[in-house]
Amino acid sequence: MEPEEFRRHGHAFVDWMADYLAGVEDYPVMSPVKPGEITAKLALSAPDEGQPMEQIFADFQAQVMPGITHWQHPSFFAYFPANSSPPAVLAEMLVATIAPQCMLWQTSPAATEMETRVLDWLRQMIGLPQGFDGVIQDSASSAMLCALLTARERVTGWQGNETGLMGRAPLCVYVSEQVHSAADKDVMVAGMGLKYLRKIPVDENFAMRPDALTAAIEADIAAGHTPCCVIATLGTTGVGAVDPLRPIGEICQRHVIYLHVDAAWAGSALVLPAWRWMIEGIEAVDSFAFNPHKWLFTNFDCCAHFVRSGEDLVRTLDILPAFLKTREGNEVIDYRNWSVPLGRRFRALKLWFVLRSYGVAEIRRRIAAHIDMAREAADWVAAAQDFEILAPLSLALFNFRYHPPGVDDEGELDRLNETLLLKLNDSGDLYLTQNSVRGVYAIRFAVGQTYTQPRHVAAAWRAIQDTARNLSSI
Ligand SMILES: *Cc1c(COP(=O)(O)O)cnc(C)c1O
Repeated sequence: MEPEEFRRHGHAFVDWMADYLAGVEDYPVMSPVKPGEITAKLALSAPDEGQPMEQIFADFQAQVMPGITHWQHPSFFAYFPANSSPPAVLAEMLVATIAPQCMLWQTSPAATEMETRVLDWLRQMIGLPQGFDGVIQDSASSAMLCALLTARERVTGWQGNETGLMGRAPLCVYVSEQVHSAADKDVMVAGMGLKYLRKIPVDENFAMRPDALTAAIEADIAAGHTPCCVIATLGTTGVGAVDPLRPIGEICQRHVIYLHVDAAWAGSALVLPAWRWMIEGIEAVDSFAFNPHKWLFTNFDCCAHFVRSGEDLVRTLDILPAFLKTREGNEVIDYRNWSVPLGRRFRALKLWFVLRSYGVAEIRRRIAAHIDMAREAADWVAAAQDFEILAPLSLALFNFRYHPPGVDDEGELDRLNETLLLKLNDSGDLYLTQNSVRGVYAIRFAVGQTYTQPRHVAAAWRAIQDTARNLSSI
C-alpha cells in the first residue's frame, strides 16, 4: 500500500471510529449471532491476489461487526468493563504505526523509560508507598504468575528454576474462596499443583478470614509442606470483597511467606482517598497488580504490576542468550526480564496519553461517578418489594435477584433469574453477567464503562423490572 493510499484509508477509518464511538449506543450490547454464524461468512482460505481495501472494509462491516459485543457501550454492566477512551485509542494508533517491539531498553529506549516513569505516576496516584517498582504486564493473571514464580524461587533458595520441584516438600498457595480463577490457572502453570492451593473460608463480607489462614498455614507446616505464597484480593470478581491486608500481612511476615495483592479491578478506585483503607497494611506486601484496562480508561491490555523487589523478579525470570546482550548492560532496565514473554508492546504510551489528557482530578471524578451510579442502582433494587440484594454494593458492584412474593423455592428462583438474565441480554439493550452467591443464582451489576451516564443505569433498572414482571412464573 502506497503512503497516499494509507493516508486516505486512515482518514476514512478515523471518521468511522469517531462515528462508532458517537453512535455505539445504537448497537445491541451483546452480539446476537449464533455459534458458527461468523465462520460461515468468512472465506475458507486466504486470497491469492490482494484485494482492495474498500472491499476488505465493507466485509469488516458486514461480516465482523455483527459478531462484536460492544464493550464500549454505555449499557455494558457485565463482567468488569474493559473501559477505553479516545486518548487511549489515539495512542494505540500511534503505537500500531510505529510497531516497536520493546523487549530491551535498546529496542526503544523511550518505551522503557516511559514505562518506568508512568508506572511511578500510577504508584503515586493510587497511594502506594515509595519503594515499589512498576512494570506493565498484559494481564493480572500474568502478574499473579510472576508473583508465584518469584515466591517459588525465594522459598526454594533460588533452586526451583534449576532443579524443578520434584522431590521437594509441596509448596502451598493460599487464596480466599472468592479468588479469581486466574489463581488456579497460575498454580497449574507454575507447577505447584492444585492439590496445594488452599481456598481459605471467608467471613460474612466474603473476605478472607485471617484465623482460617493461620490454621491452614499451621496445618501445612505440621504436615511437612512449605507455605509459599498468599494472594490477597482487593475487590473480588464475584462480589467485590476486600481481603484484610493488615492481618494477612502480619501472618505472612510471621511465617516468611510472599504476599501478592490482586486488585485487578478495585485498584483503580485507590485514586480516591476514601478507598485507601483497602491498602492499609501495604508495608507487608511483596507485589501488587491492578488493571488500568478495566477501570482506568486505558485500552486492553494493560496491567500495572508493582514489586517491592525488582531484583527478585528479575532473578526469577532472567535468561541471557548471546543475542540479547547489549552494550548498556546493567545501566538500563530491560523489561524482558520482568515478564514471561520476551516480546513486549509499547503499552506505556496509552497510559501517558490517558493520564495527561484527563488529569488525575477528572479520573477521580469519573470513578467516583461510577460508584455513585452503582450506589443509586443498588438502592433502587433494595427498595423494590420483589427484588433482593444478594451481595451488597462494593465500590461499583452489587449482586441481586428477582424474588417475587410467594415464590420461595430456591430451584424455581434460580430458574426464574436465569431466564430473566437471558432475556435481558438477548434484548441487546443492556448486558449483565450471572454469578453464584452462597450457592444462589445471582445477577451481577457492575458500573464502570467510560460512557455510562445516570440515564443508562436508570434505563437498565427499568428494563430489569419490566422484563422480570413480565416473566410468567416457571
Ligand atoms: C479481571 C480479574 C482478573 C483477571 O484479569 P486479567 O487481566 O484478565 O488476567 C484477576 N483478578 C481479579 C480480581 C479480576 O477481577
